Amino acid sequence: MAITTQTSPELQAAQAYVNEVYETVKKRNPGESEFHQAVKEILDSLVPVFAKNPKYKNNAILERIVEPERLITFRVPWVDDQGNVQVNRGFRVQFNSAIGPYKGGLRFHPSVNASIIKFLGFEQIFKNSLTGQPIGGGKGGSDFDPKGKSDNEVMKFTQSFMTELSKYIGPDTDVPAGDIGVGAREIGYMFGQYKRLRGGNEAGVLTGKGLTYGGSLTRTEATGYGLVYFTDEMLKTKGESFAGKTVVVSGSGNVSIYAIEKAQQLGAKVVACSDSNGYVYDKNGIDLETVKRLKEVERKRIKEYVSTHPSAEYHEGCENIWNIPCDIALPCATQNEINEDAAKTLVANGVKFVAEGANMPSTLEAIEVYLSNDVYFGPAKAANAGGVAVSALEMAQNSARLAWTFEEVDAKLQDIMKNIYRNSVNAAEQYGHAGNLVVGSNIAGFLKVADTMVAHGVV
Ligand code: NDP
Repeated sequence: MAITTQTSPELQAAQAYVNEVYETVKKRNPGESEFHQAVKEILDSLVPVFAKNPKYKNNAILERIVEPERLITFRVPWVDDQGNVQVNRGFRVQFNSAIGPYKGGLRFHPSVNASIIKFLGFEQIFKNSLTGQPIGGGKGGSDFDPKGKSDNEVMKFTQSFMTELSKYIGPDTDVPAGDIGVGAREIGYMFGQYKRLRGGNEAGVLTGKGLTYGGSLTRTEATGYGLVYFTDEMLKTKGESFAGKTVVVSGSGNVSIYAIEKAQQLGAKVVACSDSNGYVYDKNGIDLETVKRLKEVERKRIKEYVSTHPSAEYHEGCENIWNIPCDIALPCATQNEINEDAAKTLVANGVKFVAEGANMPSTLEAIEVYLSNDVYFGPAKAANAGGVAVSALEMAQNSARLAWTFEEVDAKLQDIMKNIYRNSVNAAEQYGHAGNLVVGSNIAGFLKVADTMVAHGVV
């Protein structure tokens, strides 16, 4: 996808090679559709690179990069509030450590399986490289569902999870963070258990920590703010700005809340957000303080929003959120939340910019629809890299045993997002796909990792 018809013999040979590697990935990882999708998107973007640089094929970089260095799965037994023994499954994929320690979040959601963790870990390699920081790619999680669980149950589960995970992580080897279902509470319990097991305070082993024990200012806001900084660069390229734009943001979790906050600060009107049950449409603009109270404090459903905002509408089911006309769509909930039909509806209703806060929220078909309809598209691994970038800044502060101010970290985040944008634009141009940020971000992320793998020899 996203690649015009290959014409030169070099491009044709590169496409044939990439197709062959992709077929092998499908055969060796049967049934893992999300992982196949993530690999397909990246491999197709790399065709121009393989056409120009034989050294990557000669060093089997592609064959090696699609194979995780390690995939760990483990049993997570714990006792619920009724005294029953529960058993979940834990995962950590340590995908690629060429440019630094494995880095990537932990997701707690019933849908978590090897395919989801591998797609996220694979994407993370290129995203982390794009940030310009020395971090490799990893990801993990569990099929545990924190929804409806007491604090005590969440603590019991996370302690059991960390007891096993602690064998494989460390400040210089693998540094997990949060993701869906893993926020400040879960990170706090996991850090406490890790510290207890190690008998020492290794602050840099997790990021997203509380501010009283080594967390970084701006980490909570980083993914959402970074998404809006990136989108702002896209807007500027087209001579536009957030001021006066109508924006739809899906989800109402960490990424969504801070994307809404920054978009509103820049003068946009955000008219909708959602959770996994449904969405709210508020033509007057979403009242973010209410969303924060419901989601960050009371852990309630988004439908409660309308009880204090009678002018707003609640709709059961979240997929129709993309029927709301908007100038800018920021999907910030989960993978594959925008399919081909939803993308066509967005286009028919006049969307001009789509930037991804969630990981892989658009299907490959949806991306085709954006690209063929002149929608300027910011793919996840570039647009949502602000979270991991500030995680790396948290690691740096932990190593130096100091803490930067909110303004210092925010300024660094803005610089990083601008650099990611510029590098993606430049790579797209250099490889003949000007304006295509999918191709640009994949190539820019790939080159640094690939060159490092060549330098390290066959390991
Ligand atoms: P949260 O758990 O804080 O919020 C997730 C939001 O998405 C919630 O509103 C949730 O609703 C909704 N959601 C989750 N699963 C589904 C689903 N299957 N269908 C519809 N809605 C769903 O997670 P984050 O905000 O941290 O993460 C959101 C996305 O951003 C993920 O794709 C994540 O990988 C990505 N991301 C996160 C980063 C971070 O720093 N946190 C960094 C980079 C990417 P409900 O409450 O009902 O479950």
